[in-house]
Amino acid sequence: MDVVVCVKQIPDPADPGSLNPETKTLDRSSKLILDESDSYGVEMALQLVETAGGGSVSLVSMAPNNEVSGLRTALAMGAESAVLVSDECLAGSDALGTSKVLAAAIARSNPDLILAATESSDGYTGTVPEQIAAVMGLPSVTFAKAIEVGDGSVSVKRQTESGFEQVSCPTPCVVSVTAGVVEPRYPSFKGIMAAKSKPVDEVTCADLGIDAGSVGWAGGGQEIVDVQQAEEREAGEKIVDEGDAHDRIVSFLDELKVI
Ligand SMILES: Cc1cc2nc3c(=O)[nH]c(=O)nc-3n(C[C@H](O)[C@H](O)[C@H](O)COP(=O)(O)OP(=O)(O)OC[C@H]3O[C@@H](n4cnc5c(N)ncnc54)[C@H](O)[C@@H]3O)c2cc1C
Repeated sequence: MDVVVCVKQIPDPADPGSLNPETKTLDRSSKLILDESDSYGVEMALQLVETAGGGSVSLVSMAPNNEVSGLRTALAMGAESAVLVSDECLAGSDALGTSKVLAAAIARSNPDLILAATESSDGYTGTVPEQIAAVMGLPSVTFAKAIEVGDGSVSVKRQTESGFEQVSCPTPCVVSVTAGVVEPRYPSFKGIMAAKSKPVDEVTCADLGIDAGSVGWAGGGQEIVDVQQAEEREAGEKIVDEGDAHDRIVSFLDELKVI
């Protein structure tokens, strides 16, 4: 059971930096960290390989400045190796450009399963996993809560608005994992030390046979035309108990479709 996990390295959300006023893209020149969203995919992959009793978990990331800090965190969790695609021609890549690059990097190995998060924490178009699948001509399943590996197929419990549905899909395939569905392990001291010497293969577009003109600003099909502050969250509703608080809480939860 060989699993590749797509791992995005992002600016620390506690100190996210600034937007470039001209390109309106996030400044990623400082140290990047493992996107918490992807720690669930890494944990899921480690558990699947443990359950299968053999196989490997490897990582694929595209990031500027040969950044490996986030990859080292995922390697410290237990992944065996990583491929990092870093190349100046990738600056300005939109989601499809990113997906083409990741697909080319993944295609170098022959995994049974490709995992990603449903959306990243910084860009969050929530489209990269499905675009990787489309570029590679593979089936994809989204919003996985749980995955069971069978013989040549996976059975996935998919989260939906009203509950979940069970679907099966032939492998190899791409599955996006919902945040919070597993408890990502903390890297142990031994894991952190071991991660320092695990292999990270740093490759460029030329290594992957990708034409520099088809990615980055040159190849982008999307343009960021405007950026606005997100609306502030509204204050929650306070329920003062006048003997009917339980009914009002139940109907509130019912409206949210959580019960
Ligand atoms: C016009 C335009 C220009 C842009 N220019 C830049 C730029 O110059 N520099 C820049 O950094 N960003 C740039 N971006 C943003 C960048 O394209 C997106 O962040 C990237 O395409 C990933 O999309 P996402 O975060 O929305 O992925 P989502 O679809 O939300 O991510 C879902 C999952 O896919 C996987 N994934 C996504 N991205 C990666 C990755 N890079 N490596 C490994 N796994 C990944 C992860 O598992 C992730 O959790 C630009 C976007 C646009 C539209």
